[in-house]
Amino acid sequence: MYGNLDSIVRFMGGYAALFTSKDFDFEGRKFSPTPLIISPLLLRTCSCPLFCGACCKPVTLDYLPTETYPQEAQPRGIVVNEIKKIVYSVIQNEKQLFCKNLSTTGQCNIYSTRPLLCRLAPLVGRITKTDIKTVSVTKAGRLRLAITGERKLPCIISEISEANVMHINALLSHLQQWMCYFEIDSKIPRIQELLTYLYDDKKLYKLYIDNEMNYTRTFYGTRK
Ligand code: SF4
Ligand code: SF4
Repeated sequence: MYGNLDSIVRFMGGYAALFTSKDFDFEGRKFSPTPLIISPLLLRTCSCPLFCGACCKPVTLDYLPTETYPQEAQPRGIVVNEIKKIVYSVIQNEKQLFCKNLSTTGQCNIYSTRPLLCRLAPLVGRITKTDIKTVSVTKAGRLRLAITGERKLPCIISEISEANVMHINALLSHLQQWMCYFEIDSKIPRIQELLTYLYDDKKLYKLYIDNEMNYTRTFYGTRK
């Protein structure tokens, strides 16, 4: 394992821990389901300004055997609930400042085949409680959004829109493939069923989903 740079550890401790609907064990840690609050902020997209790449650290690039992975990727075993599964991983030199696939203009050189974790990067932040507080431009001319919590990233976040439902749904489906591969029971199909409950015309709602997958909906605000 590769410490903070191991994307599988990030997947298990972040996404899988968030979405699991039953207890699971990974590396001696037990993860249990917790109720979720789904914010309508989930229905935003995120794009990257040129010359950013701030979150493209030399992380492990991991793929399921069924996904298109780089030739250099090597198999490694991941054990969940005492069941070993193979993923294909590119292990990077941890002394590099950034991912080897990051171009000098801050773009991803393997964009169409980048791993799931790169596609999902901003998703957890939108499912837990986040909000944009300030927008400013740095001396280097980069847009900076201050998001509540610890994150201060220059991500360009779109308005909340039902037009993003299909995109978010596709990301969740990809994530669900990973949950199924590691045989981790998941709340994701239930979240997908409820995505359109996040809005009703101009009114926005947040959803509380308990561990039995029941939901309650509360008013969040009105969009423009
Ligand atoms: S593969 Fe692409 S998106 Fe993922 S960390 Fe590397 S440069 Fe960033
Ligand atoms: S920090 Fe935001 S803008 Fe920068 S590369 Fe990551 S997702 Fe893109």
